[in-house]
Amino acid sequence: MELNERAELDTSQVNDRGRGGGAGGGIGIPLPGGGGRGGLIGIVVAVLVALLGGGFGLNAMTNGDDGGGQAGGTDLEQLCSRENAQRFDDVRCRNLLFVNSIQAYWEKAYPELDNGKYEPTDTNFFQAAVNTGCGQADSGVGPFYCPADRQVYIDLSFYDELASRFGAKGEFAQPYVLAHEYGHHVQNLLGTNERAGQGEQSGPLSASVRLELQADCYAGSWAKHATESKDETGQEPLFTSITSSDISEAIQAAEAIGDDSIQQRSGGQINPDQFTHGTSEQRQRWFRQGYDRGDPKVCDTFATDQL
Ligand SMILES: [Zn+2]
Repeated sequence: MELNERAELDTSQVNDRGRGGGAGGGIGIPLPGGGGRGGLIGIVVAVLVALLGGGFGLNAMTNGDDGGGQAGGTDLEQLCSRENAQRFDDVRCRNLLFVNSIQAYWEKAYPELDNGKYEPTDTNFFQAAVNTGCGQADSGVGPFYCPADRQVYIDLSFYDELASRFGAKGEFAQPYVLAHEYGHHVQNLLGTNERAGQGEQSGPLSASVRLELQADCYAGSWAKHATESKDETGQEPLFTSITSSDISEAIQAAEAIGDDSIQQRSGGQINPDQFTHGTSEQRQRWFRQGYDRGDPKVCDTFATDQL
């Protein structure tokens, strides 16, 4: 993967919320341990555990005394401007570019799925804890999409976790993770997750497994077209190259965070009834389906029982 040094990045798509990253006030719904609020919260939880198999648990911090409320974010406009020749040494600028690319792709591809228009949304970088429309979250939950405020949240130190704990090394695991989360945003815009909220909530054919595999497939179809995505000026490509070993890294990441491999790594027996987001094999296969065909229409995981 090579990033285009000449690309002009759209910093409005990302907020660096720094440590504690809250708006203060501690409002918001605490993240539930389960049950009660039905569809929406069910999806939030499904999304939260999606990447991590619930291995981290949800640790809702109600008294953000860890520097809570202060917005210690960096000015990305300066840091990630073209004038800074070292900008792509910084994980924030690289991830900003990934977000720009994923959204540039959906601006074009979304109308293939729906009559409407793609609505861009922000990604929030945070450290330690963050207030969201879905409640307060700490970094232990891993990256997630919050349907209530329609934004993506990621503590960038998750990537270290991905490399050390899950063995998914390699740079391209990062845009894969973001593209997966934006896949949930696309589902939200399409109303897919709302419809899925009425179905079965766990097990190998559950709505949550279908949503997760579909998000992987959407990530694959972005990856296929990523080198076509243009920067803010519409002139410069964001990536100058993506290689087959990058794609293997994304597939390896999808594999590393499948339910069965997480269960195995935590010493448990593999129990498909508990699957909420698909096996390693399924996640790889759906990513590849999106990548090989390069068309989000082939991602209809609700139309088949051959997941
Ligand atoms: Zn997910």
